[in-house]
Amino acid sequence: MKAAVIEGVGTAVLAELPDPTPGPHEVVVEVAACGLCGTDLHILQGEFAPSLPLVPGHEFAGAVVGLGSEVTGLAVGDRVAVDPSLYCYACRYCRTGHNNLCERWAAIGVTTAGGAAQYALAPAANCVPLPEHIRTQDAALIEPLSCAVRGYDVLRARLGAHVLIYGSGTMGLMMLELAKRTGAAAVDMVDINADRLETARRLGVSAAGASPDELDRPGGWDIVIDATGNAAAIQDGLGRVAKAGTFLQFGVADYATRVTIDPYRIYNQEITITGSMAVLHSYERAAELFATGVLDPEVFISDRLPLADYPRALERFAAGSGRKIVVVP
Ligand SMILES: [Zn+2]
Ligand SMILES: [Zn+2]
Repeated sequence: MKAAVIEGVGTAVLAELPDPTPGPHEVVVEVAACGLCGTDLHILQGEFAPSLPLVPGHEFAGAVVGLGSEVTGLAVGDRVAVDPSLYCYACRYCRTGHNNLCERWAAIGVTTAGGAAQYALAPAANCVPLPEHIRTQDAALIEPLSCAVRGYDVLRARLGAHVLIYGSGTMGLMMLELAKRTGAAAVDMVDINADRLETARRLGVSAAGASPDELDRPGGWDIVIDATGNAAAIQDGLGRVAKAGTFLQFGVADYATRVTIDPYRIYNQEITITGSMAVLHSYERAAELFATGVLDPEVFISDRLPLADYPRALERFAAGSGRKIVVVP
């Protein structure tokens, strides 16, 4: 099969690999589309993945074409989206319901071969069947949506909240779509690149600008979400949280990123600072939300490139234009 391979730091190529053979509880998925995200760039930079080379791709959907001997409940031809999470179920975090913080955390496309290939292996238990009206290619959006759903789980958002989102990339826009549906009184968005706010406006953001100073909310926001991972944005956002409000670190920062906090204000104004990591019991719900049309794939997928263009797709993603880029084997 053809597969994208991150061979070493900074090097992504297309390679010919043997077709995968499923273990007893696994299926072979013929990939219809695989999305790229910041995690793939981190892997390219030598972070996250424990070892290279690696076939990347943790956001994918496709058709089942092979079944392990013990698989029940799935059949060849079923169209599925794949939750990439691989938990150990044995560590203290797994046993206390925090599987995404598993001591042996692993994921398809991060620690094992992923979906940027013609075929990928997945445990049958990770496959969520797609309803008829969902196009298989579009279902590559379910994984990032499941991260956004997890973010909202952490927030425990209240009706009538004022929400501010930093960053109008794919993840920020997904947060916008969820925030609109979780009863927020206002969902505002900032992005230093004004052009990128055009999509946010199309999707019905309450107010948008290059800085929160342009938005008329002197008391701050009940919920501030960073979807950039950028130190300057995070630092600014921490100062925009209203009394009794919550700051969510949702964007993935580099390991070395540091910001300062204001302990007196955290105490005196009962500010909560929290984070959400990947997917936790949120994939199934994301698939169901996706089936209801919570996201318009035509808006969220800006580029559909052939798998052979994977290295170029990574460059394009790194340049930061557009929204979700998917590769199509
Ligand atoms: Zn991702
Ligand atoms: Zn575990």
